[in-house]
Amino acid sequence: MKFETAAIHAGQKPDPVTGSVVVPIHQTSTYAQDGVGGLRSGYEYSRTGNPTRTALETCLAALDGGARGLAFASGMAAEDTLVRTMCRPGDHVVIPADAYGGTYRLFNGVLSGWGVEHTPVDLSDLAAVRAALQPNTRLIWCETPTNPLLSIADVGALAEIAHGGGARLVVDNTFASPYLQLPLALGADAAVYSTTKYLGGHSDVVGGAVVVADAGLGAELGYAQNAIGAVPGAFDSWLVLRGIKTLGVRMERHCANAGRIADWLSGHPAVESVLYPGLPTHAGHDIAARQMRGYGGMVSFLASGGESAALDICSRTTVFILAESLGGVESLIEHPGRMTHASTANSPLQVLPSLVRLSVGIEDIDDLIADLDQAMS
Ligand SMILES: *Cc1c(COP(=O)(O)O)cnc(C)c1O
Repeated sequence: MKFETAAIHAGQKPDPVTGSVVVPIHQTSTYAQDGVGGLRSGYEYSRTGNPTRTALETCLAALDGGARGLAFASGMAAEDTLVRTMCRPGDHVVIPADAYGGTYRLFNGVLSGWGVEHTPVDLSDLAAVRAALQPNTRLIWCETPTNPLLSIADVGALAEIAHGGGARLVVDNTFASPYLQLPLALGADAAVYSTTKYLGGHSDVVGGAVVVADAGLGAELGYAQNAIGAVPGAFDSWLVLRGIKTLGVRMERHCANAGRIADWLSGHPAVESVLYPGLPTHAGHDIAARQMRGYGGMVSFLASGGESAALDICSRTTVFILAESLGGVESLIEHPGRMTHASTANSPLQVLPSLVRLSVGIEDIDDLIADLDQAMS
């Protein structure tokens, strides 16, 4: 099955009892047994397994071409469960110097207390990545494109470095989605998602996911998913599954709109520079062109008038809604320094105060450009 077909059909056969074409929301915590231990279809308790969640997990595995997909209550829950499965206290992880703020906080504020050390490295500098590997390095944690600086890392090259050093490679594929980039096919051991973003796609659910290449790792992660218990409910699983059906068509429009906006911003006097991997001037453009099938819907830029100009633009748009999060059908604007990345003030990530981040939605492009035009003039 090709991508768009799998998005609609993988794990989603009509219900065998009723014929329901859409996977039902199995809003139940437990399942009747035929005699002690006599499970009717393998389900016993909904933390351990739920049919709506199974449909989502089967679909996620198919989209990423993995051995197993696992759904979680949030992107952070997915990340935490994954690291606690792949690492033990005393292990070391290489993380991106511009990792998503929540990822940095997880490693620095939580996992360090559990005994997992980390070194932030610029992952576009492969020599620096090699130099950061230690005998106890178990994991290279990659994010590409990064949030909010849109930097690009070479997934294939990082997989080689990780595997050569006895470590594994995880890719946070939230910004690209599996429609635009398939980390496992490029050599990664696991892809991790905030399904809150493009997979859900409608800003109406918080969720996370992991897809792994290897069934053994999948079994270990399945054990941890049940043991730790950070699972999504049936309705949240259903919302993500419904979002995924239109992922392909949404991503095409996100990419087209974002490309047009990046071009428009590039010529604007109120803009110092535009960060978008689709621009030939972007440092990671060639790698992105090789490993992605489009450049995504996220565009960041530096306002030439500094922080006050950036804050003004954020407060003047009317179609672009001033809000955190990203990846939904509606366009959003935000100021990372004061909003999504305020908690990273002491991290290695330097978010300049003039930075503005756009999550370009799928509205009409003329309305989006007209809105930015009035906000920036
Ligand atoms: C939002 C986000 C996360 C965290 O996901 P939640 O669903 O908010 O827990 C992780 N990585 C990236 C790149 C994100 O944008």
